[in-house]
Parts: sequence; structure tokens; C-alpha cells
Amino acid sequence: MERTSQIFGTNVFSEAVMKERLPKDTFKKLKKTLDLGEELTPEVAEVVASAMKDWAVEKEATHYTHWFQPMTGRTAEKHDSFIEPTGDGRVIMEFSGKQLIQGEPDASSFPNGGLRATFEARGYTAWDATSPAFVKDGTLYIPTAFCSYSGEALDKKTPLLRSMEAVSKQAVRILRLFGDNDTKKVTSTVGPEQEYFLLDKRLYQERKDLIFSGRTLFGALPPKGQELDDHYFGSIKERISSFMKEFDEELWKLGISSKTKHNEVAPAQHEMAPIFTTTNIATDHNQLVMDTLIKVANRHDLACLLHEKPFAGINGSGKHNNWSLGTDKMNLLEPGVTPHENAQFLTFLVATIAAVGKYAPLLRLSAASPGNDHRLGANEAPPAIISIFLGEQLTDIINQIKDGALTSCTDQTNMDLGVKTLPKFPKDVTDRNRTSPFAFTGNKFEFRMVGSTMSVSGPNIVLNTIVADVLRDIADELEKTEDFKGTLSEIIERLVKENFNVIFDGDGYDPSWIDEAEKRGLPNIKTSVEAIETFSKPEYIKLFERHGVFAEGEVLARQEIMFEEYAKTINIEALTMIQIAKREILPATLEYACSVADSVASIKSVVAGADVSAQSEVVEKVNSLYAQASKALSKLESTLEKVHAIEEIGEQAKAYKFEVFEAMQALREPCDALEEIVAEDFWPFPTYGDLLFRV
Ligand code: ADP
Ligand code: MG
Repeated sequence: MERTSQIFGTNVFSEAVMKERLPKDTFKKLKKTLDLGEELTPEVAEVVASAMKDWAVEKEATHYTHWFQPMTGRTAEKHDSFIEPTGDGRVIMEFSGKQLIQGEPDASSFPNGGLRATFEARGYTAWDATSPAFVKDGTLYIPTAFCSYSGEALDKKTPLLRSMEAVSKQAVRILRLFGDNDTKKVTSTVGPEQEYFLLDKRLYQERKDLIFSGRTLFGALPPKGQELDDHYFGSIKERISSFMKEFDEELWKLGISSKTKHNEVAPAQHEMAPIFTTTNIATDHNQLVMDTLIKVANRHDLACLLHEKPFAGINGSGKHNNWSLGTDKMNLLEPGVTPHENAQFLTFLVATIAAVGKYAPLLRLSAASPGNDHRLGANEAPPAIISIFLGEQLTDIINQIKDGALTSCTDQTNMDLGVKTLPKFPKDVTDRNRTSPFAFTGNKFEFRMVGSTMSVSGPNIVLNTIVADVLRDIADELEKTEDFKGTLSEIIERLVKENFNVIFDGDGYDPSWIDEAEKRGLPNIKTSVEAIETFSKPEYIKLFERHGVFAEGEVLARQEIMFEEYAKTINIEALTMIQIAKREILPATLEYACSVADSVASIKSVVAGADVSAQSEVVEKVNSLYAQASKALSKLESTLEKVHAIEEIGEQAKAYKFEVFEAMQALREPCDALEEIVAEDFWPFPTYGDLLFRV
């Protein structure tokens, strides 16, 4: 076997490994849990735990960890060794079913939005058997959900699993109505494309802003940026290529099907894409992808930046969330061949369109983060308006439906829904609109607003839930009717008419779209803080409650955590700016000004009456920018102090956005102007040109 297939999945306790290592009946029972969500008995857990431990120990694991995803958006792990003293000074390696199923980490330091009072600091982790365990760095990683003593979700996995169940339940109802009596489960699937930057580690380490905030807080544009379009899909440098090889191998060992790699638009920017899998596993895998990027980069003396906007004026990074629904037999967003299949496809397609139209602010919310505010709705990025791109053929069909083609459908013998022959859509790669935030790409939707650092859990919780909700309404109506075809036609036409406005095939980056969207009545929620505010609208709380995804308390807690994260992130950035300006930029500037002033004096002392006006002008200019920067620095400090005093977290987050962020910009401007005047030898840290081109 060649190397890739040999190493693929070697560190994963996969279904194949379980089948090989578990007694037949245990495997069968476990499979029922995996496939149908049936409860796992302690007896089965005991057998699985023992087999898992033996397998892990063979892979040289000494520890195990309940790996979970707290609301920081990162992952958390605490490692316990398998050792069990035998009483005679020796140890054996032990791992029980109970240890597999449940953990009780001291969880008082994770964000909980007030869900867990400090007197009840315990949190519980529960094994998620639907995502395979794996060995990494000598530890057995067990994917787990994390919740409070009273069962509230404290993590990003629990609600995702709940949303998967919700959409499965409603989609299965629809399939039943279409005559499918076998399918028991519909799975939401995701392939998240990950963008990132790679910089030289030594240069990275000289920038406190990158170290503390993951993005540059100062920096003038270099003479060359991305204007030549010479990086996108360009030849990959050897250093980067050797990084990518090792990165791929690490992922393959973890069973992550890393498929595509290429250079992205910005200099030093790259992308990887895996082959899609269930939203649950894809989310876990994407966390591992981000973690592996950073670790492997470090081994190659590189620093990986996952931030949404590491450089002002240069393309930022996102995460394209390719999403679909499927059964074990078919992709439900794949257009079919027969009219019957196409009617079913159209139902799921229109349900998704309606869900996006109806709940656009929730999707916007799912992409809200301080980093993403530089991409969405900012000066140099696409607007934060949610619209759907369908491509020419589908738009045409949707147009026909809108114009009443469905009501003219009288032919009850076949399910053509009035659209005579739905064409079999070729997966036309050219038929793409890269500017659309939500694009149908042949057999899936691609949600492109997600930020590169974000967990894809949030966007998929929203997608699954909103689509479940529309499917539910459709199923409710269809289950009551005698006339399936007629009612279905009516529903589809109604949903299309109600949500036609959200379909937009034009250039989403064109400024005229903003006015057009406003005329259409589409929401344009420009900032994350405003998006976060919408989370607690009663209609949204009811939606999440209706599908068992979030209880009201869980929504409010999450909203608070998002506000908090927003405020804290900007606070760190502001403090970092203050430090860099005070201790690096201003002293360097002063030194340079003095050095020029000294030379002016020296020249004058040698050449009586020499014209030193040009040199003096430099001193004057530097001096005036110094004064401007000092003033802006004081203003930033006083603004911070004022904002610190705001008690209500939503108000505080808004003040960070609208006041602190402004003050930060005001400090950045004179500093960036100084960078363009002060001599290179005096400038305290590497410039954009160094960072982007010296890799
Ligand atoms: P691109 O969008 O770059 O042209 P592809 O269309 O091949 O690339 O796929 C992009 C991503 O979409 C990949 O991760 C792929 O696995 C994923 N994808 C393909 N089909 C589905 C599906 N049914 N559900 C979810 N993701 C999918
Ligand atoms: Mg894509």
C-alpha cells in the first residue's frame, strides 16, 4: 500500500477498528447508538472502554482526555494517565466504562454566561460516541459534550447535536410524505474550507500585536499588495509546500480527509479543504485542523495566523461552510432525474431558501465575532447582507414558480409541479458567484460569512435549526391534506413568493447592492454587536425552544458570552496598541527626530548658512505626527477608562465597538504615517512588506 492509505486514520478508533476489536454483539449495540441514537448501556461502555484503552496503549498512549468545546470557541483538554497502582509498588493500565462515558472537570473557569453559579462549579463531560476517539501526542482523545450539573449546555457540541436531531426529525417527516418509509435518519453534512496566513516565525515574534491579538494593529500598506493577482493558485513556495505536506499527513493520521490545498488571494495566504462529513465530525475536525495548522507551522519556523483580518487593506480569511442534508442513500440537495425526485429536491431547496429568508439575522449572528467585523460590513469587505445565489438555471425555475407556474399544474399523474422538465443540473464550476454570502453550488449551499477563527458549530446550529423549522411547517401542512400534490405546489409557491427577495445573483460587492437590498427590505446588520443583540428576540428564543436546541436561559447565556468575548477582545487590542505606541513607536520616533535634528545642527556647524530646510521639514513632520499620536494615545486611554465603568455587558460591548474602536483607529493613523517617514533602522518592528513577502 502506498504511504497515504497506509497512514490514513491510523490514529483513529474508527468503525473499522471497533468492528475488528469489539465482540460482535457489542459492536452491533454500539452501532445502534451511532446510527440511531439509541442509549448506550454501561455494559457496552465497559467493553468499548477496555478495547479502546488496549488500542490506545498499543499506539503508545499513556493518558486519556475528555476533549470538549467550551464556549470560548476553542477546545479544552485535561489529561489523566491510565495508571492504576496495584498495591505492590507497580501499576497497570486501566480505563473503565464510567471513565469513558462521563468526566467531571473542574470547570469553573470556562465562560458560562451565568448558567453555572459559582457554588455549583462542576461541569460534566459526556462521551459523544458519534465522533470517533483518536490518539494524539500520547493521549487518547475522547470527544465529549460539556454541560452543567442541571443539564444546560456549556459548550458548542451539545446544541449542535440537538440541532442535527431536530433537522433529522423534520426531514424524515418530509421523506415519509414522499413515500420513503425506510429512512430513519437524515444527516446534515459540512465541508468547511479553511483559510490561513503563514508568516516567518522570527518576524512574527517581533510583533506584539500579532502575539497578543492575532492581527496587526499598526502597519502601513507595502508598495506591493495583492493587486497583481499573482498569489491566488500560484506556484507554492518550497518552504510552504513542505509545511503543507506535513500538515496533510498529520491530518490524515487523524482521519481528516484533507483534500485541497492552494495559495489564496492575499500574499502569504493559503487554504485547505477537507472532504465533507457529518456536521458534528466536521466541526471536531475543523478544530483539529486549526490546532494542527498552528503546531505544524511552528515546527517549520512559521507562524500561522487564523485571524479574520490580520492585515488592513489586504484580503482577510474566512471559512466557507459547505452544507447539505443527506440520507445514507442520497444527498437531498442534489437535483434528481425523475419528476418525483425533483419535487423532493425542490421541497428541500425551497425550505432552505425560506429558512434563510425568514431567519437571515440569525445566520448573520452565527458569523458575528470581533475579528469578522473587519470583513463583514466594513469599508473594504462585502456587506453584511444575507442573500442567496442560485445560479442561472435554478433562478429561472424559481422565477417560473413565483410567476404561478405551479398553480397551472393540473396534471395529477406525474409530479412535475408545473415545471415541465427540471434539468439535471451539471455541477458547473464556472457558474459561481464568489460574492454571494450564501450560494447554491450544485448539490449544497455554501455559507461564506463564517470567520476563519470561528468554530463552525454556531453556523451549523443555526442552519440546521432554521431549516428544521420550515420543514416542520411544511410537514404539518402536508400531513393534514388529502391532496398532497396540490398542497405541496401551493406551499412551494407561497414560500417562493414570500422569500423571493432574498435571492440575488448580482455582484454582492457592488455598492449599489446595499441600496437595492434596502429597497427589498433585507436586513443589513453591519456590526457584530448589533447582530448579537438580535439573539434574544422572543421569536428566536421560541424557535430554538421549539426544536429543543436551546432553552431560553441557554440563549441568554450565549448572548452574554458573545458580548463579553467581544468586549474582552477589543480591550486586549486597545491595551496592546497602547503598549506598542508608548514603548515602541513613540520612543523610536523621538529617537529618529533627534537624530535628524542633530544632523541639522551638525551640518549647520560645518557649513555656515547651509540650506537645511528639507531636513528641518522632516523633523517638523515627525514632530507633528508624534504630537498627534500622543494625543490619540491619551484619548484612547481615557476612552478605555470610561468604557470599563459601563456595567451592562451589551452596552459595554457596543461602547467598545463604537468608541474604543474609533479611538484605536485615531491612534493608528498617525503611527502608520510615521512608519512611512521614519528611517527603517529606527522602526521598532517588521512592516507589512516584511511580514507578507519574507516568508
Ligand atoms: P469548491 O467550492 O472549492 O469548488 P467543491 O465544490 O469540490 O470545492 O467542495 C467544497 C467543499 O464542499 C468540500 O469540502 C466538499 O467536500 C464539500 N461538499 C461537497 N459535497 C457536500 C455535501 N453534500 N455536503 C457538505 N459539503 C459538501
Ligand atoms: Mg468553495
